[in-house]
Amino acid sequence: MASLDTIWILGDQLNRDVGPLAGRAVGTCRVLLVESAAKLSAKRWHRQRAHLVVTAMQRFAGELVAEGFEVDIRLAPSLAAGLRAHIAEFAPGTVTVMEPASWDGQLLLKRLADEFLPTGGPTLELVANAQFLCHPAEFAAWAGTRKSFKMEDFYRWQRRRLGYLMDPDPGGPAGSMIPAGGAWNFDADNRQAPPRDGRRWPEPLVDDLDAVDAAVLARLPPTCWGADPDGTWATTRSGALRRLRYAVDVVLPRFGPHEDAMLSTSWHLAHTMLSPYLNIGLLHPGEVCDAAEAAYRAGRVPIASAEGFIRQVIGWREYVWGAYWLWMPEYRDLNALGATRPLPPMFTGAPTQMRCMSHALGDVHDHGWTHHIQRLMLLSNLCLTAGVEPSALVDWMWAGFVDGAEWVMLPNVIGMGLHADGGRMATKPYAAGGAYIDRMSDYCATCPYDRKQRTGPTACPFTTLYWDFLARHADRFERNPRIVQQVRAAQRLSDLDAVRDRATEVLAHLDAGIL
Ligand code: SF4
Repeated sequence: MASLDTIWILGDQLNRDVGPLAGRAVGTCRVLLVESAAKLSAKRWHRQRAHLVVTAMQRFAGELVAEGFEVDIRLAPSLAAGLRAHIAEFAPGTVTVMEPASWDGQLLLKRLADEFLPTGGPTLELVANAQFLCHPAEFAAWAGTRKSFKMEDFYRWQRRRLGYLMDPDPGGPAGSMIPAGGAWNFDADNRQAPPRDGRRWPEPLVDDLDAVDAAVLARLPPTCWGADPDGTWATTRSGALRRLRYAVDVVLPRFGPHEDAMLSTSWHLAHTMLSPYLNIGLLHPGEVCDAAEAAYRAGRVPIASAEGFIRQVIGWREYVWGAYWLWMPEYRDLNALGATRPLPPMFTGAPTQMRCMSHALGDVHDHGWTHHIQRLMLLSNLCLTAGVEPSALVDWMWAGFVDGAEWVMLPNVIGMGLHADGGRMATKPYAAGGAYIDRMSDYCATCPYDRKQRTGPTACPFTTLYWDFLARHADRFERNPRIVQQVRAAQRLSDLDAVRDRATEVLAHLDAGIL
């Protein structure tokens, strides 16, 4: 009897409806999933991140078995070792796999294909990655037509071609479309400071953990860190779908206006927290945007919230995905500002008196997640202004967030957060002092540091480092129209020498874990 061909499902491709499993009937293939010991010990993963991926793989395999598929889920020293052992046992003629989401993953598949070719082993068949709405080849074609390609341009191109939040233009020629609500974005409505009225935010859905969760947690390597999962993160397609419905019905209506705000009393505010499911395949960006659009059309979600959410999914998320493939592998080594500082000890458990950082780092420890402004304007901002080596922050975020992946974190950190690509992605560095953080949060009122002071022992570290950063990199940024005014202001500071002295002290305390 002829051997069944194999479909190899990687740990971030857990989707029955796209990729090589789409439309496949039971009995036409055998499914392989490999849990790699090397991958589990390659980084200091957050326990919730490692638990999410491993448990979701187990449950995905179980669902396929329940459907009637023959499934080989195996523990192996590495992905390659797992595949070799599978081939030795089942001798498939073809192994089909969807394009991996990482540069190194694609290199591995090429190596394996070369290895099997001369030995008469199976054919390795690669199918296009279908977990995004814009394939890297489409992105490269779009980017190739332009001198510069801003996220906003890409987003509008995506809106037009995918048709999200587009209305017929009543005054235009037949078939012409305009953005719903009369504008491409509603940022002005969506950057409000946190409300100080003590309102309650929609609590995330939480599921009970079971024996599968316990078994996975028991065998995570001791290098994993962070709090154990509490059931917030779903590990099944049905759990992810319930969270999508809850997000659209309950969370999204309140998302927009305060999407950039930070509150010490809520780690999630009105963020949908669907990115972990999108990034491992349990949800598809198309169905997520369809649901948000339908809720807007039904009058259940305001345009500012629907647009802000859809922009994050078809705009920013797909933009960093495309940029990653366009610029790898050189992109991972960029360090335009020559930053060499190691990751501060507060990122790996040392306490800090900085109230904002204490909350953000505490949220990462407790949940493996913070929202985009904490990632950009606290975690990255501190590393940018302190001069932390880019790959140190990339690695920490990649391993520490439940939605982490190299394709997400490289552009977000190298490009957006640390300006390490010299402005290829963001036209200015996202540096900010305590004034911005105070405006967008409730942290500063109870902090022992004073966000208005840039010198002296109680000066806010963000404020000091902000001015020091601008002065330190004045040569680079004084020709940048988006930031030249701030650079000039830094150069004109009457107490610049004292700011520099205080910055030296702040950096020493940061390195020593006593800030
Ligand atoms: Fe953060 Fe500075 Fe505000 Fe303290 S005063 S919470 S360190 S921004």
